[in-house]
Amino acid sequence: MLLTIRSLTKTFPGTVALDDVKFDLAAGEVHALLGENGAGKSTLIKCLTGAYRPDAGEITLDGRRIAPRSTGEAQELGIGTVYQEVNLLPNLTVAQNLCFGREPRRFGMVSSRGTKAMAEEMLEGYGLDIDVSRDLGTYSVAIQQIVAIARAVALSGKVLILDEPTASLDAREVEMLFDVVRGLRDKGLGIVFVSHFLDQVFDLSDRVTVLRNGNHVVTEDIAALNRVRLIEHMLGHALEHEVEDHTTPHDATAPEREAMLHFTDMGKRGVIESFDLDIRKGEVVGLAGLLGSGRTESAELLFGLRGATSGTARDQSGPLKLDSPRAAIGAGFGFAPEDRKTDGIVADLSVRENIALALQARRGWARAIPKAEQAKLADMYIRRLDIRTSDAEKAVGDLSGGNQQKVVLARWLAMNPRFLILDEPTRGIDVGAHAEILRLIHELTAEGMSLLVISSELDELIAVSDRVIVVRDRRHVAELTGADVSTETIVRAIAQHGEPRDGEAA
Ligand code: ADP
Ligand code: MG
Repeated sequence: MLLTIRSLTKTFPGTVALDDVKFDLAAGEVHALLGENGAGKSTLIKCLTGAYRPDAGEITLDGRRIAPRSTGEAQELGIGTVYQEVNLLPNLTVAQNLCFGREPRRFGMVSSRGTKAMAEEMLEGYGLDIDVSRDLGTYSVAIQQIVAIARAVALSGKVLILDEPTASLDAREVEMLFDVVRGLRDKGLGIVFVSHFLDQVFDLSDRVTVLRNGNHVVTEDIAALNRVRLIEHMLGHALEHEVEDHTTPHDATAPEREAMLHFTDMGKRGVIESFDLDIRKGEVVGLAGLLGSGRTESAELLFGLRGATSGTARDQSGPLKLDSPRAAIGAGFGFAPEDRKTDGIVADLSVRENIALALQARRGWARAIPKAEQAKLADMYIRRLDIRTSDAEKAVGDLSGGNQQKVVLARWLAMNPRFLILDEPTRGIDVGAHAEILRLIHELTAEGMSLLVISSELDELIAVSDRVIVVRDRRHVAELTGADVSTETIVRAIAQHGEPRDGEAA
């Protein structure tokens, strides 16, 4: 093996990002590294490139132990990386970008003719017909990325790491990039390829390694895997055993409830393809999909957070303007975001202040809610949601994760929204709090509130949702209702599993 990683462990305060992970890479192969967001892919790569020091484990390159302490050192050892955002300088010429740090000199001066000649030589075999004396920024992202690859290969030459290189490329550009990558593979480079796009993984890779929650799940030849199996590995589900158990508990024969909100042609270019969505009174709509598929982006669009490039919204009484969160709140919407640490709570404010926050914002800061009224509100929600805190004056940052999450929920409930969006409402909280939040969701819908719930836990999503919309590669690809809502149908929609494709095992 060209590169071998054994027992790699890396922890951050409160997180085990990599737990005893193994990985290897042969010369002349493309090895895809897969897993949902947070699985540990970037951490593994950063340990390889010297950006992080692992806590434990060993990395061997060409039979020798290495422990790079910087990206420069990793490059010298032979490991080069190209990220999604091209990390070159758009205002310098292509040639300067290719050669910086090692420009050919004449009489002590950088020789621009020499630089140009060297750059042209570096680009040989990449199939680019470009003028290297033009600024890099005048070329497409695809060309910039190929220039970045050419530089990385020239500097490093053994291992090339591509961390989501195709995220902003169109289909033709991806093909162009892949031709380059295949050429490098055939020359004997070992290539690590991180991508969210399964089509691309099947198109380009020889082997696949899946990580989940910092653990190594599987390493397989791509020919031995199909899409559904690969997604099962990523999500941690073995479908066959679960299909029967998790059909929706909601009565499929119940009369259709009246639609309360209509979103039409909602979309944002480059972020999420436009979609229609009706929300009925008292229903829970689930959004399923891999992390990074566009679930959160869809929700943010509905809440006016992202500036849609298209779309209209209306309710029974007419059009709604949703061009900002403030407007969305005014329309009776609420949004409890996924990352409560950064978006959700103010850690050093008290439970009472956090709960009163959104209500206060809606009233306007000029009309302060009296402290006694705030306290009454807080006490009510502390009781109703069973928030474990000594009292309402405790700083939210001192509560456990599950109780912080309940405070975020309480804040939105205090506004009495008609439509509440919950992004991963149960992530990272303990089992007890988890069950209580699910119970609460049922209670709220019984009171007539409508919810949009995003969750990576398929069982949970199926348990709470009347309908499930599946998002894949930034598109809403399926809507499942009633008895069609099952782990299997969702995973198949995520995997877009129709006919097996050429070269895939059935
Ligand atoms: P991926 O690239 O697969 O999405 P990452 O390697 O970025 O996953 O993250 C793995 C886990 O480690 C996540 O829980 C993430 O929050 C955590 N993590 C990554 N980098 C840091 C950091 N610098 N500080 C704290 N936690 C981190
Ligand atoms: Mg990453």
